Amino acid sequence: MTPHILNQPVALLTGIGTQTANRLQKLGLCVIQDLIFHLPLRYEDRTHVYPIGSLRPGMTALISGTVEFIDVSPRGRKSLICRISDPTGFINLKFFHFSASQHNTLKPGTTISCFAEVRYGYAGLEMVHPEYKIIGNPNDCITETRLTPVYPLTEGLSQNVIRKVVKQALELCKQFPELLTDWIPESILTQYHYPTLAEAIQTLHAPDESVSIEALQNGSVPALKRLAFEELLAHYLSLRITRNKSKAWQAPSFSETATGKIATDHFIRSLPFKLTAAQQRVIAEIEADCQSQHPMMRLVQGDVGSGKTVVSAYAALLALTAGYQVAVMAPTELLAEQHKRNFSIWFEGFQTQVAYLTGQLKGNARKAVLEALEDGTIGIIIGTHALFQDSVNFHRLGLIIIDEQHRFGVHQRLALREKGQQGDIRPHQLVMTATPIPRTLAMLQYSDLDISIIDELPPGRKPIVTSVIPAERRDDVIDRINGWVEKKKQVYWVCTLIEESEVLQCEAAEKTAERLTEALPNVRIALIHGRMKSAEKDAVMQAFKNHQLDLLVATTVIEVGVDVPNAGLMIIENPERLGLSQLHQLRGRVGRGNDNSYCLLMYQAPLSDTARHRLGVLRDSNDGFVIAEKDLELRGPGEVMGTRQTGQMHFKIADLARDTDVLDIVQQAGDSFFAHSPQAIQPLCDRWLGTSTEYSEV
Ligand code: ADP
Ligand code: MG
Repeated sequence: MTPHILNQPVALLTGIGTQTANRLQKLGLCVIQDLIFHLPLRYEDRTHVYPIGSLRPGMTALISGTVEFIDVSPRGRKSLICRISDPTGFINLKFFHFSASQHNTLKPGTTISCFAEVRYGYAGLEMVHPEYKIIGNPNDCITETRLTPVYPLTEGLSQNVIRKVVKQALELCKQFPELLTDWIPESILTQYHYPTLAEAIQTLHAPDESVSIEALQNGSVPALKRLAFEELLAHYLSLRITRNKSKAWQAPSFSETATGKIATDHFIRSLPFKLTAAQQRVIAEIEADCQSQHPMMRLVQGDVGSGKTVVSAYAALLALTAGYQVAVMAPTELLAEQHKRNFSIWFEGFQTQVAYLTGQLKGNARKAVLEALEDGTIGIIIGTHALFQDSVNFHRLGLIIIDEQHRFGVHQRLALREKGQQGDIRPHQLVMTATPIPRTLAMLQYSDLDISIIDELPPGRKPIVTSVIPAERRDDVIDRINGWVEKKKQVYWVCTLIEESEVLQCEAAEKTAERLTEALPNVRIALIHGRMKSAEKDAVMQAFKNHQLDLLVATTVIEVGVDVPNAGLMIIENPERLGLSQLHQLRGRVGRGNDNSYCLLMYQAPLSDTARHRLGVLRDSNDGFVIAEKDLELRGPGEVMGTRQTGQMHFKIADLARDTDVLDIVQQAGDSFFAHSPQAIQPLCDRWLGTSTEYSEV
């Protein structure tokens, strides 16, 4: 046996034919090691027999009793009813699917054991389709010595089969202890009271009596914590390695020159506002990065409206004056268009061409842009993920700016960087996000980046006054819009839908726009949604910006970035359907001028307690960080980070909502690994991320 036995295909174990192997593969179980880390979903307790009289609804229990009678119920749906009793009471067993032989074997007087969930039935407590066994000899032992693991399954695979193969895999580990080499140093195990890897694996697959079923099911058992810790640690380490490797590349030099200084001074002077202290601080951090020999890898976090765009424009200027090109990538066309406008204005006097590239751009226009990019005529290219495409080649890309980072996956971020590679030089990278990610998550998701925070809004911004109102008050809301528009102010009306379908969203927005047009004859209304052509969207947005429109009915496409300071009232329909961070982003479209602004969250009654609570959080806070923390508490990290959509950060065992406590330990331990256990890093990453991981490719 070689130490690589764990990497052998599962088919090596006895009793696994091609069919079973295929089914296991559907569950992602390809090699023996996968089986070892395929943890039970839950456990069943067959370690003792409950007296029937002690059963309560909701319990899942092993019982034994004697059949009193058995009959096919005449009432309702046809079913086989079998009553069993022990000296403490009776219970009914109910089968909707049954055979004649079943009817015959469960004769009155027969003793059986049953296992199922107990519930209230028509005639007292009952078990529906229990697992049952006839007890031939009263001395037969019907209990198990350990809790029974219940594994995630796939069609055609039974618990019995998977239990057997997992058991074999565990036997192998016992036979060859080196298979589960513990890469976590003993000092850490002791400090956090973690069991060894072998103990943890044993406990989770075959818990002994020292472990309670509650601790196993709620995930508080140290064995599980330890595995979650190890898995998160591996992710953390691999991101840190990516970062260390990136730092080893050479970067284009943006070192300060006299002409550069004149340009940046001119840029700052020609802005219509004074940069906030936070913006200046972040600019200084970026400037320092860009003067280093190695590529900048920096994340700028700042709440909506904190002025991240101008900070990135400043970075772009550094690249331009050093003779490099800049790519600015935004998640939506709307946002890319807006950046295009802003950058065009800011760079007006700078003799550089600002161009725009999205998937919509076709034919000759597209060809012209691609050529100008390649020959270096274009200084700044702004676009959507179309910027990644193979046909896009840069003359001398020096800086990549990625806006609203959370919309892109880690690999997309890495891919764009490769585009700009020339020899051993790689472009600097600046990513911006308005989604304030709770600190613990940021350290995991962004541990390959340095983080700057713009923690100050431009002066004069007033907090947005948010109210939560039921949809029955729609007429009042419509009155309010009339009054608002009379004051020469503008309004957003945002439609949401549960369905992910963009088509349905757009239809709903169309209907709303029609109804509002009827109800508000004196208000200039237009509609904007994701299925409109880019030019149409642009025209509508431009008209709204120029105040040729009063009310903009929109889907959540306006979520990120759109900036119209005169629009100070936003109505969000069915806010209960969206995440808090997303609502906060949406709301951030107002509150950009100097006057008071308002957000009305118009919900559909009845609201669940959680929904009420969540909307309350938004009403009471304007701080994106506070809201993100609450969102994490109330919804779990997948949704907060939008990972459901992008598919990044997928864990086998760790659950970020459940294992938040582990995250702090991961960072501390992870940092000490580089100093004290460097030899353990690669095997840990291999174990959890596979040998060819998206993170370690650089
Ligand atoms: P975000 O951080 O949400 O991307 P933007 O960059 O879109 O915010 O900036 C929001 C608005 O604030 C824009 O109109 C921008 O021109 C303006 N702005 C940026 N910085 C300042 C500042 N220091 N003072 C006043 N307004 C500013
Ligand atoms: Mg922005």
